[in-house]
Amino acid sequence: MQIIKEYVAEKKERLKQLNLNNLKMVIVQIGHVPASDRYVRNKAKDAAEVGVNCEIDNLPEDISEEELLKLLDGLNNDEAVTGYLVQLPLPKHISEEKVKLAIAPEKDIDGFHPLSKTVPATPLGIYNYLKDMKYEFQGKNAVVIGRSNIVGKPMAQLLLKESMNVTVLHSKTSEADKAFYLKHADLIVIATGHEHTLSSKYKLKARTIVFDVGINVGEDGKLHGDCDPGLHVKFQSPVPGGVGLLTRIAVIDNLIELSK
Ligand code: NAP
Repeated sequence: MQIIKEYVAEKKERLKQLNLNNLKMVIVQIGHVPASDRYVRNKAKDAAEVGVNCEIDNLPEDISEEELLKLLDGLNNDEAVTGYLVQLPLPKHISEEKVKLAIAPEKDIDGFHPLSKTVPATPLGIYNYLKDMKYEFQGKNAVVIGRSNIVGKPMAQLLLKESMNVTVLHSKTSEADKAFYLKHADLIVIATGHEHTLSSKYKLKARTIVFDVGINVGEDGKLHGDCDPGLHVKFQSPVPGGVGLLTRIAVIDNLIELSK
């Protein structure tokens, strides 16, 4: 945990030097889901820390889809706004797909729009961290567990771009195949949303690096990742205090990208 905390603190110092006070980011939040409240607060805190202007648009839970889309259209056309994001999850009466497509690609901090030039912040945060740590990607075996559009798929693309041998596993992968691929993995990124998906019953290389994206509320009411703690590997990112911190800083990277 300490390694990631130190990295993020050092990166924030670097970002502060860039004089980002001409950038404006807006976070659109609909209703109040306790977990989302925390994410929104933290994203706003990070933005403020590095000098970015951040506004939170708190909208009522019962806002209609039409009203929300109109508001997003306003943000798309507001020249003062560098970029914005819509905090998920949305209330059930609003289509996530429509919202993702309503965000103009040039304002899309989260990289959810198919034409967006940004990459979703979670895979980007892991990738930037590895790059900054001078990780040697080329020719190594990466296993990505999970194939969602916001984590698994973009993560696989980023690692492929670095000439890794990338295997993407999912819920239809057999146990035998999962054990086989994991045994050969140098780097594992796991995002399934299920506790214990990766446990010490799988044989892993001692030099493997594991990024645990999962955030699950356990029976104990605490946050747990998708991996059991204490895997016999070189590095395992903790939950909380691991990938979440890398994601938050990548939000700022995306905002900077949009400002170019
Ligand atoms: P998602 O859309 O539900 O996708 C989960 C993926 O995992 C699916 O592709 C699913 O396979 C696969 N999967 C489920 N069970 C599996 C198993 N036992 N073995 C192998 N693959 C399995 O989830 P997501 O949006 O990617 O998020 C995943 C987790 O990451 C969640 O806990 C979420 O809260 C967390 N998250 C954290 C951050 C952060 O900042 N730390 C950011 C984003 C997400 P199928 O495609 O076959 O169904």
